[in-house]
Amino acid sequence: MISSTDEELLRRAVAIAADAVTLGDAPYGSLLAGPDGAILVEAHNTVRRDNDISAHPELKLARWAARELDAQTAARTTMYTSCQPCGMCAGGIVRSGLGRVVYALSTEQLVELNPESGAWPAVAQDGPALFEAARVPIETYYRS
Ligand SMILES: [Zn+2]
Repeated sequence: MISSTDEELLRRAVAIAADAVTLGDAPYGSLLAGPDGAILVEAHNTVRRDNDISAHPELKLARWAARELDAQTAARTTMYTSCQPCGMCAGGIVRSGLGRVVYALSTEQLVELNPESGAWPAVAQDGPALFEAARVPIETYYRS
């Protein structure tokens, strides 16, 4: 359920995305709002500027939250973002402990607006293999 307060913070995320375009960056913006609704930090996509495929605003903010917030605060912090997080960012968000994500455009809507945004090829993955060798570092780490 998206409240009027959520919509206000989402509008800020969309404004960050619009500002990113004027800076020459890709049109994606995000922010974190703490338990009291105050904006803690903002970010936009700097993939081109930084030549870094991981420079999505959602992942930057998930990393920030994991570093800067205690677990209880992170769980009560919300990410507002101009587009639904991609798979890379969604994984980072889960690991960050953030409690909620509110997005404006769904991935489906984004792809309708820009078909290239959905043009990710599947990558071949082969495995599992070498179980007896690969289990050693895992068992060494988790059983000691
Ligand atoms: Zn992403």
